[in-house]
Amino acid sequence: MDFVSRYVDKTIKIYKTNDPFSIANQKGIIITELPLGETLGLYMMRRRFQFITLNSDMNLHEKRFVCAHELGHAIEYPECNTSFLRKTTLTSISRIEVQANKFATLLLTYYDKMENWMTKDQYLKMCGIPVEMSRFI
Ligand SMILES: [Zn+2]
Repeated sequence: MDFVSRYVDKTIKIYKTNDPFSIANQKGIIITELPLGETLGLYMMRRRFQFITLNSDMNLHEKRFVCAHELGHAIEYPECNTSFLRKTTLTSISRIEVQANKFATLLLTYYDKMENWMTKDQYLKMCGIPVEMSRFI
């Protein structure tokens, strides 16, 4: 099992849910929403406090995915402060962005297995995940 899958497994075992909002709350991460323009979300650590900021103009599915992505940063690289998720980041090849996207995809699909009759796109849609993530399933 790779690094990201192990983190997802461990996270779900500890927090007993795959809901990124609930996990963030349980971890004491402070979530705020602001109109961020082109930026979908960001993660920061300041004085040992962790913050996730979500673009308030997104719908609930988008917020859930972006929260899961930022949670991936918070869990994989808590000290790393330089991640702004933009629409273009969904197809980013930067290692930490790929790992955060994979974390979000594995987390949000954890309890819903893909049925035979579904296409990958339908499955991702059902789980509220952007189609750009199809390479992770
Ligand atoms: Zn990111």
